[in-house]
Amino acid sequence: MIDLHTHCYHSHDSKTPPRAMIERAIGLGLEYIALTDHYDLDMLGWECIHQLDLDKHFEELTTLKQEYSDRIQLGVGVECGWAKQVEQDYALTLSKYDFDMTINSVHIINGRDCYVQGYYDNLSKNDAYAEYLDVIIQSLNAPYHFDSIGHLGYIMRYAPYDQPLWKLSDYADKFDTILHTLIDKGVALEINTHTKKRPFSFVPTIDLLTRYKELGGELITFGSDAHVPERIGDKLELVSDMLQSLGYKYIFKYLSHKPVAVRL
Ligand SMILES: [Zn+2]
Ligand SMILES: [Zn+2]
Repeated sequence: MIDLHTHCYHSHDSKTPPRAMIERAIGLGLEYIALTDHYDLDMLGWECIHQLDLDKHFEELTTLKQEYSDRIQLGVGVECGWAKQVEQDYALTLSKYDFDMTINSVHIINGRDCYVQGYYDNLSKNDAYAEYLDVIIQSLNAPYHFDSIGHLGYIMRYAPYDQPLWKLSDYADKFDTILHTLIDKGVALEINTHTKKRPFSFVPTIDLLTRYKELGGELITFGSDAHVPERIGDKLELVSDMLQSLGYKYIFKYLSHKPVAVRL
């Protein structure tokens, strides 16, 4: 099977050598793993973040891709943290590298980090989620190529509300805008299983995946968002069963930004 969203020591929040990630993926019997390190121009100037060295990341992973080519397919990619003010910078730099895949993610909501608990002070669940989804909608118009939208529902990983999951019906128009845009642009919807011990196993929610299918969506990717070898492929079987129960037959891997169907 496959995992399209993982990190190694090129990301500011992982210490794992890429070789350890690849060896673990081989040990698990994966046919494909993408290393998609954080590229966070949205956090430029944040002292806690060391920025990705794109040249080093690309060169080292491309060399490993060749070295391991008879044992596993390695996708070389990045996860861009979208923000309006740095869109053009991403467009300029990303075009210089021959990546296999680019994930477009939202971590920062109108300049504020929803990872930090103070973010939610005096903010109702409805207002927080509505603002998050509005930013997601803006991110889909980014002027650079991206293959998938990362962890739609990221805010639910950290939001302190009693019932952190959203309902499709609460934001039906926003979700339809998002899903229609993904389908029109040929951008994949990622299922991300990094849920940090929350009372759910993945994002986005099942009602959203059902709606995506109803609208004709097919491009689904799986990402553990592993930053350590032990989490690679986490809950892949559960996600595979869930997708098949909804009528999906394939998930997709990416090579040179081209989706390749993998039977569930
Ligand atoms: Zn992310
Ligand atoms: Zn990630």
